[in-house]
Amino acid sequence: MYKNMNSLSFSPPAPTTLDGFKRRVSYLRVSLTDRCNLRCRYCMPLNGIEFFKKEEILSLNELKRLLRIFKSLGVTKIRFTGGEPLLRTDLPEIIREAVLLGVEDISLTTNALLLFSQLEKCVAAGLKRINISLDTLRQDRFLKITGVKGLESVLNGIYRSLELGLNPVKINVVVMREWNLDEIPDFVRLAQESPLEVRFLELMPTANNFEGTAGVSLDSFVPIAEIKDCVKKVVVLNKEEEYLGVAKVFSLVNGKGKIGFISPVSNHFCESCNRIRLTARGELKSCLHGSDLIDLRTPLKAGASDQEISSLIQQALLFKPEEHFIRPTHFQSQSLRMSQVGG
Ligand code: SAM
Ligand code: SF4
Repeated sequence: MYKNMNSLSFSPPAPTTLDGFKRRVSYLRVSLTDRCNLRCRYCMPLNGIEFFKKEEILSLNELKRLLRIFKSLGVTKIRFTGGEPLLRTDLPEIIREAVLLGVEDISLTTNALLLFSQLEKCVAAGLKRINISLDTLRQDRFLKITGVKGLESVLNGIYRSLELGLNPVKINVVVMREWNLDEIPDFVRLAQESPLEVRFLELMPTANNFEGTAGVSLDSFVPIAEIKDCVKKVVVLNKEEEYLGVAKVFSLVNGKGKIGFISPVSNHFCESCNRIRLTARGELKSCLHGSDLIDLRTPLKAGASDQEISSLIQQALLFKPEEHFIRPTHFQSQSLRMSQVGG
């Protein structure tokens, strides 16, 4: 499936952002840092992760330049993620740059621990919508899942997002059998009471299959069909909405919000995948679960022209695999840790 990446060379770019399977790649997910102020069990081991060296992380200027190049190649949607993107104090400036470049759809995925105090600046910079990750509504569990006492701060961040008019405000819930399957009714109530889009996600394998990760294993996986059955026991879903994206989204017969389901494992969406990822140290990753990493920062630092970087990106797109091979019965990722790629 993968050709030798070392054989990539500078050559004139093809005039399109189609990948090798004729999928148009228009959605860039940018991990701004691999560091995080939480230690979610399914994402990072509780102790001992080796972070990228500080000097390896893309600087503001390097990021701005890469964003400009991606935009010129046809990227219309950018999501800033991490690690925890709010740990970067220059986040508002990065968002502003994407706005100035004319990127149509700009969003942020955050654990929201620092959101309450930082959101206003991000909104002033042009942020209009947000995804907040939250896997439990119980304080004791929040501490056990993330290693930090922070539920109240996250909830304050969620309500602040609604107050400041972000739309949509999406809540990402990774469902794990032993940790929060029993909280599905509570999350459904949250969607009934507030104009939030609560999205249930299947647990995905991380690099090394949760090795060194206490309390989450392959047995934690819950397929989306089972999650949906739990939801339907508490609420009546309207007809599925037309939706551009990976979630299947439903409004509620009785409720202000919506419920979404995302099934990257049991029913993957590779066929229509339009995503590429940029790691915090400037590597391009064409598939979340693939092993390919194309270093863009080294040529950037070595003085490569925009044209040469564009050419590297376009050639890398040709290596985007047709599909990943993660299945409920085959649960192994070749990827970096989620905190290193941004999910
Ligand atoms: N720190 C930010 C946050 O948590 O929102 C952004 C980075 S985090 C890696 C992005 C998303 O990936 C989060 O919604 C998180 O729940 C999800 N994620 C991390 N590890 C995962 C896993 N093993 N399976 C499914 N989702 C995962
Ligand atoms: Fe940090 Fe997000 Fe990973 Fe949790 S999921 S450890 S908040 S990067």
